[in-house]
Amino acid sequence: MQLPEARTARVDIVLEGSLTSTGGGVASSCTLVRDADRVIVVDPGMAESATAILGPLAELGVRPEDVTEVVLSHHHPDHTLYAGLFPRAAVHDHWAIYRGTDWEDSECDGRVLAPSVILARTPGHTAEDLATLVGTPHGVVVCTHSWFNAETTVDDESPDDPEALHASRAAILEIASEIIPGHGARFRPTGDTPR
Ligand SMILES: [Zn+2]
Ligand SMILES: [Zn+2]
Repeated sequence: MQLPEARTARVDIVLEGSLTSTGGGVASSCTLVRDADRVIVVDPGMAESATAILGPLAELGVRPEDVTEVVLSHHHPDHTLYAGLFPRAAVHDHWAIYRGTDWEDSECDGRVLAPSVILARTPGHTAEDLATLVGTPHGVVVCTHSWFNAETTVDDESPDDPEALHASRAAILEIASEIIPGHGARFRPTGDTPR
């Protein structure tokens, strides 16, 4: 797994994800990453309203038009629903970068978004999963859907490819000082973290 070159980014939680059931109560973890001149929003997905994302961003001093990149961890709607809120942002997924009507093919693994921000392909939950690796002064923070939250095992999550998910978790645990999971609070991995 290729690490970001620098350790200069700032990470803020925009919305802490949650997951009650498919009958309701689903929110994706949405994260703001700022590094150099890049303003990056990861997974502006299901939330109570657009305001649930734009309000916290405003409190952090970020207007919708300030956002330069949107990163989608994978293609499920709970992680993509509000991707269109940011009129100037390039949108990143596992195989392309989208700007207006321009579709640029681009493998995500190793894609550099900023000196301290790089993407890594981490299949398992779906074949399209990517993680956002963020170098901060305190270590590498990983935004990833390879965990729903700090406690969920691979079996709990019924992934598309359990073996691939185990491998992605192992690769992330080698480099992460902190994990922001798809549907839960940020956590510091320990020996007890399910892998
Ligand atoms: Zn999903
Ligand atoms: Zn999800």
